Amino acid sequence: MKAGKNFKSVWMGTPRSYQTQAIVIKQIKLGEADKILTIYTPEFGKLKVVAKGACRPGSKLGGNVEPLTYSLMMLARGRNLDIVTQSQTIDGFLALKSDLRLMAYGLYVLELIDSFTMENSENRPLFDLLLDALHWLSQSDSNEIVLRYFELHLLYYLGYRPELHRCVRCNSPLKPVVNFFISSQGGILCPCCSQNEPMSRSLSVNALKILRLWQNCDCATAKRVKVKSELSLELKQVLQGYIVYLLQREVKSTAWLDELKKLLVDNNCGAN
Ligand SMILES: [Zn+2]
Repeated sequence: MKAGKNFKSVWMGTPRSYQTQAIVIKQIKLGEADKILTIYTPEFGKLKVVAKGACRPGSKLGGNVEPLTYSLMMLARGRNLDIVTQSQTIDGFLALKSDLRLMAYGLYVLELIDSFTMENSENRPLFDLLLDALHWLSQSDSNEIVLRYFELHLLYYLGYRPELHRCVRCNSPLKPVVNFFISSQGGILCPCCSQNEPMSRSLSVNALKILRLWQNCDCATAKRVKVKSELSLELKQVLQGYIVYLLQREVKSTAWLDELKKLLVDNNCGAN
């Protein structure tokens, strides 16, 4: 599914107001009644905007400007930040908001988008990926594979696609043996080149196979491939290690996700 093709962001009336699709990625309370929202849009990338009165009971904006909501917004140009004058929910992702594990997945995806993007920098494929990811996570067979798939394709749309076919140092084709992922070079070292590279991380043959598959298949196919828990952990460590290297800091919601997973497993709630 290609996201959002039925909704157009257009200039409306005077140039002082415009309409855009927006996925709300963050909110901060401003004073008693207002909120500053961070939204991700197809045409303008990430924006910070003000939702006046959104915290007041009965506000028309209210639930239409909560994080994890996909809305059609009307905005007015402001002196500093633009102001949301209307917001109509297109998809509130209720399946995500009503399940703690799925909500944690959704918030992780939002945090990655927020962490990797600059304001006013358009990236339409990234908007589509974000919207698709929230839909994939809302499906009943959703699992952590969706997060890995999202991470890998996020990296691609940001220009950090990992090289998975040739050694990033000697350029020789990688053989089906244990190779070594090196975040600082965005790819894999062959066993020979990995010597004296303490920052590289071993990558099993199966992990490499799965990464190559994910890079070239759709999410539905990715979800169908059974990945055992040990391999799943290896893939998570490789991708998140690369992400932390690129961001030069931890992703905050990862710790929460890990805690939650442990809690759900301890209580036999079948976290995947
Ligand atoms: Zn090499």
